[in-house]
Amino acid sequence: MNHNKPLILLVEDDTAVKNLIATTLEMQNYRFETAANGQQALIAVTSRNPDIMLLDLGLPDMDGVEIIKKIRGWSQMPIIVISARSEDRDKIDALDAGADDYLTKPFSVEELLARVRTTLRRLSYMRSAGPAEESVFVNGDLKIDYAAGCVYLSGEELHLTPIEYKLLCLLAQNVGKVLTHTFITKEVWGSTWENDVASLRVFMATLRKKIETDPSQPRYIQTHVGVGYRMLRHDQEQTAGSE
Ligand code: CA
Repeated sequence: MNHNKPLILLVEDDTAVKNLIATTLEMQNYRFETAANGQQALIAVTSRNPDIMLLDLGLPDMDGVEIIKKIRGWSQMPIIVISARSEDRDKIDALDAGADDYLTKPFSVEELLARVRTTLRRLSYMRSAGPAEESVFVNGDLKIDYAAGCVYLSGEELHLTPIEYKLLCLLAQNVGKVLTHTFITKEVWGSTWENDVASLRVFMATLRKKIETDPSQPRYIQTHVGVGYRMLRHDQEQTAGSE
């Protein structure tokens, strides 16, 4: 039974932070292992095959972003990066390299657990359907019919512009994952011109007006200030606002 539980690999060289996270995971009954540097982390990933990785970006022997690039060569395992405030640029580089989410030090225990829960939900979604094979995407009251190119909210068809539709599909295909401004503009406009980030904000606002009941309290698309956006996964039984 115990082995059906997802295994979390915690990579952190700072003993105090490592102990805090370890205690938190232990108290919540999560299965986890620890590594104190990049070398140990890569060995643990190949030998123990963890389900999720919590990765500190400032490691003594290796750049955290390099570790992500290496792992993404063979695995889509969700990675949550942990960075200090001074490493903001690294955090964005880590997301662009394929990390799923991030925590900025100092973080609260609640924040850590919320990120782990979101990532576990993403993991079970990745394992159940696989976003690539799905022809219909359903998330709470939102439904995208990829084949027909139609979007529905509570059964009512929405009229999206081509860019709004592209944006929504991109977020849906990466549900649960934080997408950076650079990644989104590259995917939607095929460029990373600086003004695109401003356009992105405008399109995001019009998209939210259509899909969110209360655009000031978005339920589907979360803003990560200075970083990007994420679509949250809503299970059928989950009540609004519990995340
Ligand atoms: Ca560190």
